[in-house]
Amino acid sequence: MKFSDEQIHRYSRQMILPGIGGKGQRKLAEAKVFIMGAGGLGSPAALYLAAAGVGTIGLADFDRVELHNLQRQILHRTPDVGLLKVESGKKTLESLNPEVRVQIYSERITSANIREIIRDYNHVLDGSDNFPTRFLVNDACFFEKKTLISGAILRFDGQLSTFKPHAGGPCYRCLLSEPPPPGAVPSCQEAGVLGAVAGTIGLLQANEALKEILGIGQSMAGRFLFFNALSLTFSEAKIEKNPACLLCGENATIQGLIDYAPTCPTQSSSLALS
Ligand SMILES: [Zn+2]
Repeated sequence: MKFSDEQIHRYSRQMILPGIGGKGQRKLAEAKVFIMGAGGLGSPAALYLAAAGVGTIGLADFDRVELHNLQRQILHRTPDVGLLKVESGKKTLESLNPEVRVQIYSERITSANIREIIRDYNHVLDGSDNFPTRFLVNDACFFEKKTLISGAILRFDGQLSTFKPHAGGPCYRCLLSEPPPPGAVPSCQEAGVLGAVAGTIGLLQANEALKEILGIGQSMAGRFLFFNALSLTFSEAKIEKNPACLLCGENATIQGLIDYAPTCPTQSSSLALS
């Protein structure tokens, strides 16, 4: 693959970076990233991945754009209210970078279709807003051996980690074996979220996806990041593979995907762990 003058110009500020260059830019062009949710996390992540020249971006969301989404879901604009989020998102990403191929999935992602869909991608970025989806994505990534970059937000807090049990690290279930009971953790709809918190965590997810694609820096696998916007602090914990994990442990009992009942039909972003 040879770069055109226009491509070299577009990506010049990152192609001069050590560890990227033409070789890295080619890796980005060949990369396929699946993004679960075109909302508060998926929006900034998708924008930065498209801007960086990630060749294929898959965008899954069955919701339509609502006015209250615009406070943080920056893929969408006021005239987009009423459109499917994936349609609005595709339009925005293509206007930012027409070279990016945006595949959209407007159907509900379930155990019946997720494995087949993510099989076409190398990396999965979870920007979903509820526990049933979070567990479904984790389990599907485990079975399909895909690197999962997971983010969560609530109020002024955010969290992030990368899961790649196929490379020896923990999975999401190593930390939280089952979804919490409905109502145990408030949703953003109930508790609120600062848009800039969604932006911060979504951007960090894009950062980690770019690092995983390029093979540079230190992976977030085995590490868990906590962010608080009010104190503006980042802290980090080491996380390890749980030998008793129901999914990736020695005596794993989960052999297939599970569709957990929705905890709330119109749930917004939930904090995955607290
Ligand atoms: Zn596990």
